[in-house]
Amino acid sequence: MNKALAAQTETSPFDVESIRKDFPILQREVNGRPLIYLDNGATAQKPKSVIDAIDRYYRDQNSNIHRGVHHLSQLATQAYEDARETVRRFINAGHDYEVLFTRGTTDSINLVAASWGRRFLEPGDEVVISTMEHHSNIVPWQMICDERRAILKVIPIHESGELDMVAFQSLLGDRTRMVAIAHVSNSLGTINPVEDVIRMSHEHGALVLLDGAQCVPHMRVDVKALDVDFYAFSGHKIFGPTGVGILYGKEDLLNNMPPYQGGGDMIKKVTFEKTTYNTLPHKFEAGTPNIVGGIGLAAAIDYVSQFEPRALADHEQDLLDYATEKLQQIPGLKIIGTAEHKASVISFIIEGQHPFDVGTLLDQQGIAVRTGHHCTQPLMDYYHIPGTVRASFAMYNTRADVDILVAALKRALEMLS
Ligand code: PMP
Repeated sequence: MNKALAAQTETSPFDVESIRKDFPILQREVNGRPLIYLDNGATAQKPKSVIDAIDRYYRDQNSNIHRGVHHLSQLATQAYEDARETVRRFINAGHDYEVLFTRGTTDSINLVAASWGRRFLEPGDEVVISTMEHHSNIVPWQMICDERRAILKVIPIHESGELDMVAFQSLLGDRTRMVAIAHVSNSLGTINPVEDVIRMSHEHGALVLLDGAQCVPHMRVDVKALDVDFYAFSGHKIFGPTGVGILYGKEDLLNNMPPYQGGGDMIKKVTFEKTTYNTLPHKFEAGTPNIVGGIGLAAAIDYVSQFEPRALADHEQDLLDYATEKLQQIPGLKIIGTAEHKASVISFIIEGQHPFDVGTLLDQQGIAVRTGHHCTQPLMDYYHIPGTVRASFAMYNTRADVDILVAALKRALEMLS
């Protein structure tokens, strides 16, 4: 077993102060104050081990993969394919060739919509998404439904930000081919009941794609236990680099899908008359991939995997509970998204205040939060709001961060009043 794989089998004690030391950026100041980074839903910070893996690759291993006979090419190919195996183990896929490297969640969903959709969607077929989807899990389905004259249906939600499962049941029918929903909502934090969604969809013969962008940073996912058909996530939200992501797909589904893009690596043989395609996973990986991205993602997974998932979940649940309690004490503040099962994401609005103004005043105090519609405009329309302020926590955040956020919010509101 190589070092990276071995790292996944050993656990380290969960000590937030020592974790913080692993993330160099957390030592910096912003606007003269220590950085309080609460924008992890947009992108997470990188531990030194990821930064070092990227640095090491470019200093020591850089080469193009798969077709080189020379030493460096073989080294880079091995590192890239080891990274695929690291991801496979992390999500418990049955085979490494069911793990495709993509540019990120958006690219993964577009791949399925374009490739599977073009081959299998017939006029009048139905694709089901939900009100809380990120634009990345709306627009690719709109595009392919337009092209194939298929129908896009939307699961309504309750005011709490939970899926209306009764309505979902009634949306499922003979023509439902695909159900594509977020595992965890980026704007609300809702953890969707994906086991039920998968079971109910399969009962109707529909496939399920889960957008796991906001899930994998917070909890372990087992694609085999879930029996999910496609699972998408991004490297950068799980402490890895930008520009790399994963699409997991079941072998038989991927085998029956046409290539997404044409070019190097996805071919077996090319003549001007006819091209035959490579086997999985290469069939879906045209062109020189983000080699260092894959290697950096594996380093990130190794980093996360050293901690007991339970310890990580408990820490984030504590932050969520503590922040919810403290924020609710601020007059005029309303939390958007009050589902029973939530990841450590809190969206809120404050009566009479625009989220941008609040976010700007927090930034002046060194606090990074996200403001706006969070790429979920239809969800904001549902709540009749322009956007929210969103604090999204990661393993390196602390109760002290929450205290500083709350104090800074109070100061911001004094300035705005
Ligand atoms: N889905 C969800 C739920 C997200 O939070 C995001 C990123 N905000 C995406 C999809 C898109 O991810 P990426 O930009 O990395 O492709």
